[in-house]
Amino acid sequence: MSASKEFRARSIAQRDAFWAEQAELIAWQAKPQQICDFSRPPFAKWFVGGTTNLCHNAVDRHAAERPDAPALIFVSTETDTEKTYSFAELQREVERTAAILQSLGVGRGDRVLIYMPMIAEAAFAMLACTRIGAIHSVVFGGFASGSLATRIDDAKPKVIVSAEAGMRGGKVVPYKHLLDEACALAQFPPEKVLMVDRGLEKDFPRTEGRDVDYATLRAQHMDAKVPCVWLESSEPSYILYTSGTTGKPKGVQRDTGGYCVALAASMKHIYCGNPGETMFTTSDIGWVVGHSYIIYGPLIAGMATLMYEGTPLRPDPGIWWSLVEKYKVSVMFSAPTAARVLKKQDPAYLKKYDLSSLRQIFLAGEPLDEPTHEWLMTALDKPVIDNYWQTETGWPILCELPGVEKTPVQLGSPGRPAYGYDLRIFREDGSECGPNEKGIVGIVPPLPPGCLSTVWGDDDRFVRTYFSLFKSPLVYSSFDWGIRDEAGYHKILGRTDDVINVAGHRLGTREIEEAIQAHSAIAEVAVVGVADQLKGQLPLAFAVVKDPARIATADDRAKLEKEVMQTVDGLLGAIARPGRVMFVNGLPKTRSGKMLRRSIQAIAEGRDPGDLTTLDDPSTLDQVRAALG
Ligand code: ATP
Ligand code: MG
Repeated sequence: MSASKEFRARSIAQRDAFWAEQAELIAWQAKPQQICDFSRPPFAKWFVGGTTNLCHNAVDRHAAERPDAPALIFVSTETDTEKTYSFAELQREVERTAAILQSLGVGRGDRVLIYMPMIAEAAFAMLACTRIGAIHSVVFGGFASGSLATRIDDAKPKVIVSAEAGMRGGKVVPYKHLLDEACALAQFPPEKVLMVDRGLEKDFPRTEGRDVDYATLRAQHMDAKVPCVWLESSEPSYILYTSGTTGKPKGVQRDTGGYCVALAASMKHIYCGNPGETMFTTSDIGWVVGHSYIIYGPLIAGMATLMYEGTPLRPDPGIWWSLVEKYKVSVMFSAPTAARVLKKQDPAYLKKYDLSSLRQIFLAGEPLDEPTHEWLMTALDKPVIDNYWQTETGWPILCELPGVEKTPVQLGSPGRPAYGYDLRIFREDGSECGPNEKGIVGIVPPLPPGCLSTVWGDDDRFVRTYFSLFKSPLVYSSFDWGIRDEAGYHKILGRTDDVINVAGHRLGTREIEEAIQAHSAIAEVAVVGVADQLKGQLPLAFAVVKDPARIATADDRAKLEKEVMQTVDGLLGAIARPGRVMFVNGLPKTRSGKMLRRSIQAIAEGRDPGDLTTLDDPSTLDQVRAALG
């Protein structure tokens, strides 16, 4: 058996021994007494009786050993700022912020909502919370007041940490009025609001008695010494909401010890990050990728993490690669959406910098289409590794393990189950699919360490939402539709909600989208199934072209539509051919860059588009409406 195959097999067959070994990767104040308590399925408790602290593992441990090594590299191309904090400096800043939070009455188990742009103070705030055992709930900066108010009421935070504004593409995005509106809307507004004043918006409104100034309080706590609070392994570390692609976001509750071990293990076996090296993850702290691989993962591994405020295109499309060269980045983590943006730029930008420090780049968040995957691998001349996971799991479900064994990259596939996941593909009746048979991606519990412990404040919803796929067996549903080949490599074909049933044939949206993307004129496409009297459902495609000149006239559009249909016929057969291919300038996506197919489908079927609180650009829905005529 190959090394990685054996590793995977052992993680399931000798579960407790496997995870006991991984637990050695982190520092415990008291060692766990039991590795996994699964006496109350589907709830799993990991490393029972062990006490530890995320901030200790991410900061203090390294500050003691290598105080001057870089820990947090903050780069903003929006405000032209670059600042590196060593582990010792990071610890000092975190202790100051922790002291401020304590002075505002925050203690163990209290919630702190963080509504901030990508600035160093946001990292200090997250680490300060975990340091004192407070539970953070990071809400993506710039979310509208309604979405923010719902999250305030769900978490009932004692304190909100915020800044007056973010920046995007050179423009100031004011936050404070949204925050004030949200506090007014909320049933459980915070007692205090800690404001970082970036100097971007002069005279932003302040509420007397509630709003306090970060710089003023920091000055009072310059020499603060705030010890880490040792938490029992299953005490919560944070709450984080899913992206809201398929409906109302779910509040994922994460534990402490399991998450810390899971991240440490993933940094070793998957991301191959070593102390002293630099990791650059291009996500936002508002998402799970930001939590796990901008903040906690790299720091736990003793790496420096590059926290970047800005777009991939400013000042020019070479910016990311210039940072890789400057900070000798060895591990990079990004998203297919970003890769598709870069694909439209001049490839010369990728060749301009010395990327010799970079070993590999990981992408996650959405299906990675083969043309984009291949393009990026060729352009960078580095392995590009797709990994499939969810807010719920906190770390990869499907991913090859370069830290265990270097396996060749398979285009279009996130590979095999990482380890610890007893992952299977199921038919709708609960039986298991064979190789090359499409089905629902499920995980037989217990979910491994790092995965959600429950839905915040709602154990019932946790069981109902994730474990009610079948009466028996008990299975965690990923809500994704996938397929596995004989060699064990998987492909995610779309969301279970998005499966299109054409005359009895079940097609994943991704299959049709990939076929359409094979046409060289198409940059991006969303396919949805709409009710059809004859066929049950009919696929409709909404596509963005690379060059608008291709669709200048009605004739051009008709011609390209026909070509696209022929491409689908050729690759998948006429059964998958979309009823129509409509051209738009942009597609509706969540703020985390995921396609909102359910809303497109609802509009196409004349229904209400549903929860739109995470929609990034509302004008894209108008375009869909206009295209449908
Ligand atoms: P919600 O659960 O609120 O509807 P969401 O599922 O988009 O939103 P996330 O947790 O951010 O919230 O995203 C996880 C989902 O993203 C996965 O379930 C899957 O559908 C998709 N995904 C993530 N990585 C990949 C990947 N590498 N390949 C294919 N799909 C992926
Ligand atoms: Mg989801």
